[in-house]
Amino acid sequence: MTSAIVLAAGSGKRMNSQTAKQFLKIRDKEVLYYSLKVFEESPLVDKIILVTKEEDIEYCRTEIVEKNKLKKIMNIIPGGRERYDSVHAGLSLLSKNIDKEEDIVLIHDGARPFITETMINDSVMAAKKYGACSVGVPVKDTIKIIDENGFSVETPNRNFLYQIQTPQTFMLNLILKAYGEFEKDSNHNITDDTMLVEQYTGVNSKIIFGAYENIKITTPDDMEIAEKLVEKFFKKIKKSC
Ligand code: C5P
Repeated sequence: MTSAIVLAAGSGKRMNSQTAKQFLKIRDKEVLYYSLKVFEESPLVDKIILVTKEEDIEYCRTEIVEKNKLKKIMNIIPGGRERYDSVHAGLSLLSKNIDKEEDIVLIHDGARPFITETMINDSVMAAKKYGACSVGVPVKDTIKIIDENGFSVETPNRNFLYQIQTPQTFMLNLILKAYGEFEKDSNHNITDDTMLVEQYTGVNSKIIFGAYENIKITTPDDMEIAEKLVEKFFKKIKKSC
């Protein structure tokens, strides 16, 4: 069984908008719709769990799931205060219904509309082989580590630097184990799930190439970029749009 957890429980303060970024519209469809559609159409994905704020569950059900006839969304559940709380809510649900030892879960930011079927296929394949994987892209700029006064103190070798995106994909048992350990720990200094798995299980994630277009909608500028990128998206999934 391969499941996708799609996260849409954030408030997106950097967007300066009344509407949470995952519900802003690109060409009449919510940002969240686009990635759900790709998971829906992937033959590899059996079911989707959508995590959102309690007060947005009804909107998601009627305006996104029912209106667009998305059939693979089995549950719409409330998330938590931090991103990892929302992931944990989705994983807890999956843990009640483990099908097989080799179950896979893809975890995706609902604020990243432009994932592709290839990313899903490559991610599932890598997670089966290595246990944990994330899509990402090599950084284009030189990256500096700075001190508290703003002076450069180190320049890491760019050949080994990747910008990490989602989906991040895991053997379900591995990430359940990692979250089990994480729960017992009081120091929750975690920025993504590959970091959590590394820290609590020692398993290093395989990083595979995503796409520079796989942006996370964060600030108003990103919506302008998304308006342009959406052309390509519609060409790819003409079928039912
Ligand atoms: O805030 P950030 O950009 O890191 O959010 C990444 C994704 O995680 C977004 O899709 C957001 O809706 C989701 N999220 C969540 N629960 C939170 C915080 C963020 O589902 N508590």
